[in-house]
Formats: sequence, C-alpha cells, structure tokens
Amino acid sequence: MKLLEGKTALITGASRGIGRAIAEKFASEGANLILTDLFYDDNAKALVDQLSATGVKVKMYASDASKFDQAQNVVDEAAKEFGQIHILVNNAGITRDTLLMRMTEDQWDLVINVNLKSVFNLTKAVQSLMLKQRYGSIINMSSVVGVSGNAGQANYSASKAGIVGFTKSVARELGSRNIRCNAIAPGFILTEMTDKLPEDVRKEWAEKIPLKRGGTPDEVAKVALFLASDLSSYVSGQVIQVCGAMLT
Ligand code: NAP
Repeated sequence: MKLLEGKTALITGASRGIGRAIAEKFASEGANLILTDLFYDDNAKALVDQLSATGVKVKMYASDASKFDQAQNVVDEAAKEFGQIHILVNNAGITRDTLLMRMTEDQWDLVINVNLKSVFNLTKAVQSLMLKQRYGSIINMSSVVGVSGNAGQANYSASKAGIVGFTKSVARELGSRNIRCNAIAPGFILTEMTDKLPEDVRKEWAEKIPLKRGGTPDEVAKVALFLASDLSSYVSGQVIQVCGAMLT
C-alpha cells in the first residue's frame, strides 16, 4: 500500500521548484492532487498530464494564494470535485531581496502577502473540511532564514518567521481534532528562486554548508511526504530544517 493512497492533497505554487517536486512525490505515493499556481500555462498543463499518467486524479487551478477570496474559491471548487482535502501544503513563496534602507513598502507588502497571508488564507479555507473529517496534515514552507534572519531579506525572513508562529498556534488550536500542522525550513535549495542569485554568491553559500552542496527539491519533498503521511502521526507543531546542517 502506498503511503498516501486514498488521500487528497492541495499544494500551492506547484508548477515548478519545490512545489512541483512535492506534487511528483505525493503522486508517486498515490495521492490525488489539487494544484494551484498563478497561471495555468503550458508548463502547468504538461505537469498535470505527467502526473495524471501515474493514475492519480489531478486538477490544477490558476489562483493567487495571497488573495483571500481566490483561496476560498479554489477550496470550494476542489471540495465539489474531490470531496475531501486531507493534506494542505502552503508552498507558494517569492523573494524581493534588498537592504532595509532601499526596501519599498510595496516590496514589504508583496512578500508578506504572498508568503504569509497566503498561509492564513488557505488554512482558513480548508479548516472546516478538516474539522468535519477529524483529519488533516498542514505543511507550511518556512525557511532557515525565518529562524536565523538574514541581511537583505528583512521582508522574506519576517514572512517565514511569521509562518513558524502560525504553524505552532494552529497545531495547538486544532490538535484536539486530529489536525496536525508542521513547517519545513529549507536551507539553500537548487530551484529557479536560488538560480536568480549571482554564481559567486551560490558558490559561497554551498561552501558554508557542512554537507558542501545545495539541496534538491526532491530532498525537501521527501520530508513533506513524511509530514503528510501517517509516518508522522505524532509529529505536530514542529519546524523541520532541511538544510545540510547550514543552521544547527
Ligand atoms: P520557485 O521555484 O520560485 O517556485 C515558486 C512557485 O510559487 C512558482 O510556481 C510560482 O508561480 C508560485 N507562486 C508565486 N507566487 C504565487 C502566488 N501568489 N500564488 C500562487 N502561486 C504562486 O520557488 P521554490 O524555490 O520552489 O520555493 C518554494 C517555497 O520554498 C517558497 O515558499 C520558498 O520561500 C521556500 N523556500 C525555498 C528555498 C530555496 O532555497 N529554494 C529555501 C527556503 C524556503 P509562477 O511560476 O507563476 O511564478
């Protein structure tokens, strides 16, 4: 029996990077998938075809996770189509890195809304379904810089630290209904988000990591699988760092 057989998972920001790797991992373990991304483009369509070919049910919605109404609409639509939602992965995230001196109000608001408000929006939208089911696993994508802070990332670090507080609160609030809530804090993972960094910065980061390399999206997806499945049935309110010992 596969680890997620009979389960339905909703993953935000799923068309590339870590979200895509999680979708692929969950499909390989038998989960039906509700995927969201800003646009339903050719890349997203190809992903839906690829995952559907594995035999699971997959539907992708174009939806901005930072918008409260859009999050509620996706969950309403998906609930009609899939019935239940057992797993929520709040993965969508962006960066707008710059020193505080130069950071604009728009750069602050955008990062907080996409990274943190989205987590509130989707969690709130799935809450009543999960309460009725008396079952749920919510996984929020934080970051090591949400724990440590980082120069040039005050907006991003604040959003990721906010996710940690939210995760711990939801774990305490919904635990009695068998709803678990955990966060993953990746370190330096090789995706388009980190591709944007200059080559010398990427080299320098890798050198500082005790495992001497950046992580892969699949290595984050494996931890998401653990948290999504009943392998972690007594794990809630935790932040699991996936960072090659970058932060200990
Ligand atoms: P990525 O490659 O940039 O992918 C992010 C995905 O989120 C994209 O598919 C993007 O859609 C989608 N997205 C952006 N804004 C959205 C919105 N408002 N609503 C719905 N979807 C949206 O990033 P990644 O590296 O995979 O990162 C995934 C998560 O891990 C993020 O929360 C990030 O902060 C976190 N993380 C990453 C690292 C790292 O080293 N990569 C480290 C720590 C934490 P489009 O394709 O339309 O832009």
